Amino acid sequence: MKGIEYVESVLDIVKKRNPGEIEFLDAVREVLTSLAPVFDKNPNFIEAALLERITEPERLIYFRVPWVDDAGKIHVNRGYRVQFNSAIGPYKGGIRFHPTVNQSIIKFLGFEQIFKNSLTGLAIGGGKGGADFDPKGKSDNEIMRFCQAFMGELYKYIGSDMDIPAGDIGVGAREIGYMYGYYKKIKSMSDQGVLTGKGLTFGGSLVRTQATGYGLVYFTEEMLNNKGLSFKGKKVIVSGSGNVAIYAMEKAIELGAQIVACSDSSGYIYDENGIDLKVLKDIKEIKRARIKEYIKDKPTAKFVDNYKGIWSNKCDIALPCATQGEIDEHGANELIKNGVIAVSEGANMPSTLQAIDLFLENNILFGPSKAANAGGVACSALEMSQNSMRYAWSFEEVDERLKEIMSNIFNNIKKTAEEYGEEDNLIIGANIAGFIKVANAMLAQGVV
Ligand code: NDP
Repeated sequence: MKGIEYVESVLDIVKKRNPGEIEFLDAVREVLTSLAPVFDKNPNFIEAALLERITEPERLIYFRVPWVDDAGKIHVNRGYRVQFNSAIGPYKGGIRFHPTVNQSIIKFLGFEQIFKNSLTGLAIGGGKGGADFDPKGKSDNEIMRFCQAFMGELYKYIGSDMDIPAGDIGVGAREIGYMYGYYKKIKSMSDQGVLTGKGLTFGGSLVRTQATGYGLVYFTEEMLNNKGLSFKGKKVIVSGSGNVAIYAMEKAIELGAQIVACSDSSGYIYDENGIDLKVLKDIKEIKRARIKEYIKDKPTAKFVDNYKGIWSNKCDIALPCATQGEIDEHGANELIKNGVIAVSEGANMPSTLQAIDLFLENNILFGPSKAANAGGVACSALEMSQNSMRYAWSFEEVDERLKEIMSNIFNNIKKTAEEYGEEDNLIIGANIAGFIKVANAMLAQGVV
């Protein structure tokens, strides 16, 4: 059987088995269609039914999360954890709290995480979790009670050698602190390696907060350098204004770029003088307020109440760092029309499949999320190492390791793309390089 026939036959099975799970099906299609030539070279992968196995989670846990708000009203949310693949190490992947969370989104994120984690070169399998809880407008006590209710069920399925969650949208250091505190209480033990993204006084790693954003910029700088370009003097648009976006902006500015626009779900701000990160951090990290507040401090900047419109502005480099599907065909066409030279993904799959096709057809340098945003999980794995050693590295040591990991990821996927005759297609390079390592581990471990 030819590789492409095998891929198509498995895609049919996945489609029938997961009806209506649009995000998951898109993610599977994106990965599997790049893998056809791998099966032509390795027919034993077909005999081992590797694709049928890798597209089915090892375990999917789904649970009720009841909690009480400040007024005494009872709410019920849905919690999830998908333990997708443990061939190369314990499950690892973030927890997302956002009202859009559902089974399809958690499975899409968990599936992507398998290949991302493999690309880091570290021994971590793929997992993901979350709840359809909306943290916006909730008091600190409500957030704490929700985190405790969520952990009150999740604790049964996680552990430092089994499954190690971290943050994602809506889950930062505050939420990880509450979840870790409750885990420790229920288990009556201190197992620091069970969660990453912890506070620095109880086992957290320096650089973890910055890691995804910094890593994205390190990766993108490698991609630009490879073509004789760099961030220096470039105009950059970064969507979002959360953890990934803020630290991507910080590092890009350090490398000489100017950030002209960023967003949240209520809209975007455009500042032709360059976004003032100090003002933005105060609004987003301290006050937890809406992005519109920025124009109070910077009256020459403008606010537009349509977050997707951000891509209509002129820039050299676009770093989507908010959420999945945020650059569609229209957004991609606008960026191309305005002369963008590189798009590199900080969020997970922020470009639709149609947008990606447009970038590739127009020779735009494209950094796919599973490679470009792997810095967060890589630093989480470094946090796990420090927890096992009961020793903490300095900021510079962790940052140096992060830089090296991102550089290795770029070189590895570029080399793999070239080996398969797809010189500049880093998506194919990332999918194939990420897959082969997991595939060989699955093959060696038999049918489990
Ligand atoms: P945060 O919650 O810190 O920030 C998310 C940002 O994106 C906020 O500005 C938010 O605006 C905006 N946003 C979220 N959902 C939407 C939406 N549906 N429409 C428009 N804007 C939206 O999350 P992170 O920065 O941690 O995560 C951002 C992305 O990066 C996600 O795709 C995540 O999976 C990915 N990622 C994160 C990693 C990490 O280490 N944190 C690691 C690897 C990937 P608002 O506040 O208005 O909701």
